[in-house]
Amino acid sequence: MEAIMSNDFPEDTEERLKQEITETVRRCRKCNYCYSACPLFQSTRGFQTNGPSGIIQSLHYGIVWDEINGEEKDTLRDILYQCTTCNSCVITCKEKATGLPIVEVIEKGKLLVEMMNGPMPSQRKPLEQIYSHGNPYQEPQEQRLNWNNEKSLKLLPKDTAETLFYVGCTTSYEPELQGVARSLVTIFNQGKVDFGVLAEEKCCADPVDKMGDEFLYQELVNVNEEAFLASGCDRIVTVSPHCYHTFADLYPHLKDKFEILHYTQFLDRLIASEALLFEDGDSIRITYHDPCYLSKHHDILEAPRAILQNIPGVDFVEMEQYGKNSLCCGGGGGRMFHEVEGNNLLGETRAQQALAVKAKIIATACPWCHVMLDNAVKNLDLTDKLQVLDIAEIVAKRLTTI
Ligand code: SF4
Ligand code: SF4
Repeated sequence: MEAIMSNDFPEDTEERLKQEITETVRRCRKCNYCYSACPLFQSTRGFQTNGPSGIIQSLHYGIVWDEINGEEKDTLRDILYQCTTCNSCVITCKEKATGLPIVEVIEKGKLLVEMMNGPMPSQRKPLEQIYSHGNPYQEPQEQRLNWNNEKSLKLLPKDTAETLFYVGCTTSYEPELQGVARSLVTIFNQGKVDFGVLAEEKCCADPVDKMGDEFLYQELVNVNEEAFLASGCDRIVTVSPHCYHTFADLYPHLKDKFEILHYTQFLDRLIASEALLFEDGDSIRITYHDPCYLSKHHDILEAPRAILQNIPGVDFVEMEQYGKNSLCCGGGGGRMFHEVEGNNLLGETRAQQALAVKAKIIATACPWCHVMLDNAVKNLDLTDKLQVLDIAEIVAKRLTTI
């Protein structure tokens, strides 16, 4: 791969980004309606720059007053990198105001800042790790499949399969999440799915995109697209909503050649076709935390709920905030890799909301939400009252074994 943090951008990139950003931000009416939806604003001291309009206005004036590379460059970078990219403001601005693509503007701002000043200091290390190891956690590539205990797991492209199961970095390496990958293998086997995993899987590039390293991002897109095409599969199923979003919306050559699904969509389909059947089980009250990259970016609201509601004994209950109005866990936008004021507050609020509806389990369907919520439950000393589980883990435990 190319050396990261290169300055070798096409000549007109800087001017193009500046122009696109300023033209878009000028359409902001400063009505501030977007603030009520912003988890960042809710979890910080609530300065103007801790919310959508303030972030993009700071960026706009950074460009107009030539401060991107000036004395205030670190302030501006900190302002941009607080955003979780949850998309709540985009939805609100579209419903109530001028429909600004706020997250797109913030991402362009990060790219501009990265071009001129490099990434956040705390994000250099994960970027270097992705460059050298293909994951942000400094884990060896040869141990990426250590989560697997299934001898017959198909390895692509040596083996062939219909469905490519893309596991992702966090689920592959994080010990507390590796069970999610194993659960999905159990479920796929039970559902007679013809599937395999890449023998040499690499980061999907979402964190690289969010941390603003365009060159490493392009390299990963090329490497991954080549691997997907060589696999011979016709469907990609991801564990993480962030991988799903990246493949479905950002990769240029996948949509025409593959059906791209988040695993909740795939499981919902398997359950509807009765390829998966459940055993009766004890009654348990479960609530669901919507990952922003399913609910607010892709309208995937029904499939996760349908799965849970199909499991016998599950007493499904919604929290105060759910669906498109759900509260972000705080882990998106590259924030998993650097400290932000109030980082734990969102997850802790979510845990309290789950307790308020007397749930015993918060189900989710995103590795980063899982980590953030799990930390919150531990921080609040609630482990004897509340458990965080991935939907795949709940399903695998309740399947009828044939
Ligand atoms: S809702 Fe839209 S128009 Fe209103 S302040 Fe926020 S970004 Fe600007
Ligand atoms: S994407 Fe989410 S965190 Fe970022 S400014 Fe918009 S509402 Fe706030």
